[in-house]
Order: sequence, then structure tokens, then C-alpha cells
Amino acid sequence: HNHIDNATVEKVEAAIKAGDTHAHVPDYETYDAYAAEGGYATLKDLRENGNWEAVQDKVLASGLRGLGGAGFPSGKKWGFVRGNAGPRYLAVNGDEGEPGTFKDRYYLERTPHLFLEGMLIAAWAVEAEKAFIYMRDEYPAVLEILRREIAALEDAGIVEAGYIDLRRGAGAYICGEESAMIESIEGKRGMPRHRPPYVAQVGIFDRPTLVHNVETLYWVARVCREGAEVLSSVEKNGRKGLRSYSVSGRVKNPGVHLLPAGSTILDVIEAAGGMLDGQTFKAYQPGGPSSGLLPASMDDIPLDFDTLQPHGSFIGSAAVVVLSDQDSARDAALNMLRFFEDESCGQCTPCRVGCEKAVKLMQAETWNTDLLEELSQAMVDASICGLGQAAPNPIRLTIKHFSGEIG
Ligand code: SF4
Repeated sequence: HNHIDNATVEKVEAAIKAGDTHAHVPDYETYDAYAAEGGYATLKDLRENGNWEAVQDKVLASGLRGLGGAGFPSGKKWGFVRGNAGPRYLAVNGDEGEPGTFKDRYYLERTPHLFLEGMLIAAWAVEAEKAFIYMRDEYPAVLEILRREIAALEDAGIVEAGYIDLRRGAGAYICGEESAMIESIEGKRGMPRHRPPYVAQVGIFDRPTLVHNVETLYWVARVCREGAEVLSSVEKNGRKGLRSYSVSGRVKNPGVHLLPAGSTILDVIEAAGGMLDGQTFKAYQPGGPSSGLLPASMDDIPLDFDTLQPHGSFIGSAAVVVLSDQDSARDAALNMLRFFEDESCGQCTPCRVGCEKAVKLMQAETWNTDLLEELSQAMVDASICGLGQAAPNPIRLTIKHFSGEIG
């Protein structure tokens, strides 16, 4: 995304013309390199002598939470899934479709085995019969890396052939919603399920299913290997742990920046090399379009789970987009709603019709704020899943903080 310059693109295109169909695969740590550094020793040791509850305690002590955006404590989830009779499954959500998010890709294109070992540790912890990886098809290099490295794990005898089932998503944002992802894995149209029951009880083919995001599993491996302190010892602004911020927008050095979870937007902008020359910081999207836009004046909030809720926003997958004085908050909010209109699965009326109606209302010269607020409340109250429930956030935050732009 941000690391590819024109020279690289030309080189890859020339290589593809010359017949190298995998020229787009970057250099990454292979199975041999990872194993030579002690990789998979933790998994082997756990399989031989491990106590799953001790590992769960370690994961709980680290403070690791679901990094797909929901922030649910990972160790607790293991307990819920284990609490239901087997057979159980594990499903990895690699459908990284949140606009502005590219952290999973970042780790998978560099150190795929930290993720794979973390996945196998979690699978061991819940005694999963099978592990499904649902990977976004827009990441061809990642798919090729995973194909190669899953084969290497089978050859090395770390997993039986077929234990890891690599599935390709087909570009639907809603398939990143865990129950829609499960429907898609089952071969059905990806539409969110009503809950309860939760997927920890009734998941893939009605079996208890542990669903984790890619980055969460990357940290499971690191916590098991390096200790809970790798996360729990980092403290800033009263928050603990680390966050991989996917930073884009009007900054000099966009990309993935690993920072303390208590970082503010000013810390994130600084890590990303500061604002582009001649541009002034105006607003930011803290965590994907569902988190809406906050004004530059709100620059002292730690960008972590739970800290943004009182402000009508949330951190989600930590996809930070920085806007400058050259951007319109109103246009950005409209763009967000257009995205939701496109990606709504259409299953429920408040979201399907609500997103469409909101886009029309937001195109008016002057926003009808009363009507938009009424519509927002209906969507929050009556939508089945997070897409429709959170889609009003950009509307409400724009009305609240950028009233000068909406007529
Ligand atoms: Fe589908 Fe939207 Fe309803 Fe979610 S809220 S189930 S995306 S229509």
C-alpha cells in the first residue's frame, strides 16, 4: 500500500511479463528461517507438556484484546469456546476490509509464522478440530505466502495435511463481520446472523468456534514466547499495551506504526513523520469509517479501546486517517456513508434503506439535521449488525464538530 514506489511497480510488472507469476510476493521470513530462530519450539512444548489454562492466564495477564476491532479479551474468549462441548473449530478473520486498515497485511507479508504459530497455539488451547483462515482475495501476495508456508508446515509435520483450510474472501466488506464470515465459510451468502447464540457456542456448521483476527494471533505467539510483559509492561497515559496503527492521509510517512496503546493523535502524527509540508491538522478518523471524524482540538484522547466511546467514536482496528485544512469533513463523512451504502448486505431495512437515505440527505446543500438524527437513531436501534449500528457515527460527529460545513 504505502511502501510500493513506482520503481518497484515497474520491476514487478517486468518480472510478471517475463513469466514470474509470483513477482509480487515480497521477501518474508520463511518456515526454515523462522524455525532456525527457535520458531515453533513454544507450540511443540505446549503440545507435549502444556496446560491450556496456564497459557490462558498468560494471555489474560498480557491484556491482549481482539485486534480486529471489537477488543474482547482474548483469553476469556478461549474459556467460552472451551466451555462448549466439541468438536470445535477455529476461524481466522483475515478479511481486512476496513478502509484505512492494513496492519494484518503488514505482519503477514513480513513474519507470517508468528501469526501461524499463534494460530496453532490458540487451536491447541481450544482443541480445534480444524483451522479455517478466511483471507481477503485482494491480498494476492499474502495468499501466495500462506499457500507456501502452510505446505511447509505440513511437510515439517507440524500440522496434518488439510488441518489448515485457507479460504478466499470475495471482496464483500460485510464478510469481515464474524458471523457473516462464518456463513461465507459454510458456502452461503455472507450475511450477519442474529445473536445470541454467539459464535463461541454456535459457529461454523453449528459447532463452537473461536474467531480471532490475524494480528491478535501474532501477539498470542509473541506473548507465549516472550512473556505477558511484552504487552503488559508498556504504559502510557494510564493505558497498557501496544497498538498497530495503520496511518494514512496527510502525513509524511504513512504506514503501520506500532505505538503504546495510550498514544494520542499527536503521537501518531509525530510517529508518521508529521503533517505534510504546508498543511495544518484539521480532523482525524480514529478507527475506520464507522468511527467517524473527530476535530483536531480533541488531540489528547488516548487512542485505545474504551477511551473514545464517551465521545461517540471508537478505536476499532486503529485505522487512523489524518485530514488537513485541504480536506472537507463534510465530504469525508459523505464518503463514509457512501461506502456503507455500497457494503450494506441489505438484510435489514434500517441499514439498507437508512444508508441510502442518509447519503441523499447528506448531499443536500444544507443538512436536515433533525431528520438525519431521527434516521441515525432508527439505524442504531434496529440494525442487526455493527455496520448499520455504527454507520450513523460519521453523521452525528460531523453535525456535532463540523457544523460550519453543513449549511
Ligand atoms: Fe446487513 Fe446492514 Fe443489517 Fe448488518 S445492519 S445485517 S450489513 S443490512
